[in-house]
Amino acid sequence: SRILAVRGSPLPGKPPAGAVLVFHDVTDLRRLERMRQDFVANASHELKTPLASIKAYAETLLDWALEDPAVNRRFVERIDEQADRLDSLIHDMLSLARLEANQDVFRHDPLGLAAVLGRCVEAHRDRAESGDLTLEFDVDALDAGATILADEEAVRQIFDNLIDNAIKYTPPGGRVGVVGSASAAEIVVAVSDTGLGIPREEQARIFERFYRVDKARSRELGGTGLGLAIVKHLVSSLQGRVEVTSRLGAGSTFTVRLPRAQAPAPSPTSTAAEA
Ligand code: ADP
Repeated sequence: SRILAVRGSPLPGKPPAGAVLVFHDVTDLRRLERMRQDFVANASHELKTPLASIKAYAETLLDWALEDPAVNRRFVERIDEQADRLDSLIHDMLSLARLEANQDVFRHDPLGLAAVLGRCVEAHRDRAESGDLTLEFDVDALDAGATILADEEAVRQIFDNLIDNAIKYTPPGGRVGVVGSASAAEIVVAVSDTGLGIPREEQARIFERFYRVDKARSRELGGTGLGLAIVKHLVSSLQGRVEVTSRLGAGSTFTVRLPRAQAPAPSPTSTAAEA
């Protein structure tokens, strides 16, 4: 919708000397404002849930359970788990806020992607193996010279989130794979799993903040519902794209495409100087 304002200076009895028509497209502003309100509402709800548990356990301990040593430890453990939940939520909310405040994900030196991906994968190996998952890593098609212009921390965050999800949503005995390849223009990394899969009608929505296919399961696995929103934000800040293909019960593949840093063309003068 558009609003139309007419500004003139009609003095009583005199025709206006001139008029300025101001068109503002408020659709985007309204949409942004609604997103902000939804975010605050969702975030408050997400923060309140663990807080309510902590309060309930603490009150029960104070009322009677402190006397019972067997119950004591169990309740304090629950309090500790819920405090960890709050901690991850606040951590992810701050990451998103920082991302929105500045787009500081670029850097001037090219970053070798194969090495960064290797470090990411290795950081998840123990968890994958303790969940009885095979973690495959293949960057043979990603030549060692394939670089992008990005901050290593930003790239780590993208792939940490995707690999973490692949492990979380894949039952024991499954497989998680990270495969990189490159064309002249872009680097393509696919993070795939043989896990639960995502229903077709929800595939577009999982990148929204706090959207989860199964809220209870995500919470139980320590999810915040913000991981993919962070991934999407980071990838588009790097001028890339992320998409998902998935089949329910069979698995999912998240494909990230990032523009390749262009090697500087050798200039004729430097070639002449070297010769
Ligand atoms: P969460 O913290 O809940 O994992 P994300 O933003 O990372 O939040 O993901 C949003 C939702 O997308 C998850 O709750 C889950 O339902 C779904 N999802 C993400 N990755 C996968 C995957 N590899 N397999 C199945 N479902 C996934």
